[in-house]
Amino acid sequence: MPTLYEQREDDHPMSNEPPKKSIAAGKVCKKIMADHFYELDEAARTGSRKIAWCTSVGPAELLRGMGFLVYYPENHGAMLGATRMATELIPYANAMGYSPDICSYLTSDVGSFLQGKTPLTKAYNIESVPRPDVLVFNTNQCRDVQDWFAWYARHFGVPLVGVHTHRDIGLIRMYQIKDIAQQIEDLVPQLEAVTGEPFDMDRFKEAVELSRRTSVLWRACLESAGAVPSPWTFFDATIHMGPAVVARGTAEGVSYYEDHLLPELEQRIKDGVAAVEGERHRLYWEGMPIWGKLRPLAEQFASLKTCVVASTYCNSWIFDQLDPADPFESMARAYTELFIARDEAYKEKYIAQCYELFKFDGIVFHDAKTCPNNSNNRYGMPERLGRALGVPTLTINGDLCDLRCYSEEQAKTNIEAFIEQLEE
Ligand code: SF4
Repeated sequence: MPTLYEQREDDHPMSNEPPKKSIAAGKVCKKIMADHFYELDEAARTGSRKIAWCTSVGPAELLRGMGFLVYYPENHGAMLGATRMATELIPYANAMGYSPDICSYLTSDVGSFLQGKTPLTKAYNIESVPRPDVLVFNTNQCRDVQDWFAWYARHFGVPLVGVHTHRDIGLIRMYQIKDIAQQIEDLVPQLEAVTGEPFDMDRFKEAVELSRRTSVLWRACLESAGAVPSPWTFFDATIHMGPAVVARGTAEGVSYYEDHLLPELEQRIKDGVAAVEGERHRLYWEGMPIWGKLRPLAEQFASLKTCVVASTYCNSWIFDQLDPADPFESMARAYTELFIARDEAYKEKYIAQCYELFKFDGIVFHDAKTCPNNSNNRYGMPERLGRALGVPTLTINGDLCDLRCYSEEQAKTNIEAFIEQLEE
């Protein structure tokens, strides 16, 4: 039985590349992802462990530290997109009153649940997503996650708890950090009521430290793309970020990047291995991936000798502000300093720093129809950044999961024209 990861690898440019180009660590990544789902499935069937559903940039360290197994519905949403199941499932959520204009992770995930269909079945022979004991959100990314989780909380009759984060933040103030730290701390008694066990500060600190180490290593992997030529692409990173999302706060997450992926990328740099043979252009991807079109996009860029070297999206799982000596406040800082929660001026400064690091010569903005939160092209940023950095920008209209919002032909033509512009 093929695993989901294999399906995604099929959908991935490296599967068609000569063997020297495939990232060997992928096998370990695949196992970590499989084990993650098997562990959850077993716990859901036997009741051996409590399961918390958590938003992808939610307080995972606290949940790990309190002994929960953690399931990330956004990860499931990305799978629905990558396997192209999403588009047919979204209308079932629309029929329940959830607009086609809101997050297509939400609508495809709810649609998938309503239809009893999940990519986990084909990939892992798992019948259904694991039943939650509690749902925990952080609105730092958007309000959709709260509404999404509220649907399941009503369905399963389990508690919904969360953190309401400041948004559109410029300079971060201490009152904001104190507020979020207090909100995270206030989750403790609510979660104790679910686990039936007292909070253990040492265990929590250990999870924070493991998450911090995972983040530091993940950053190093991403920054390896600053090398010319780049040893990997944004499209590779969307696959290898799996453990940084689902295994943060665990020893497996640390080991994946420390013992496998990072050494391999460093070796590639030493050996001068280019992810895109004959790399001529380097681009930055701003916005969500188009999950169902990773492979064709990666192939097109590779055929144009263009490496998409970095992205805001993959950088979003760097939480190296975490500090076990000050776990609540450092978590508050990590989850508030997040790109998506910041104002335009901060975001532009951030991308300008990436420009220095990754030496790209153009930026692709993905305007994802159902995710305004991660579509930063809508208020003049491409024009401002293009002027400030002296690089051309391209906006592609599409979506993370809903392929009805994406015209492949149009995107292809626009990308070709954009690379011609770079050639000139
Ligand atoms: S940030 Fe965008 S993609 Fe992520 S959950 Fe919110 S609306 Fe969906």
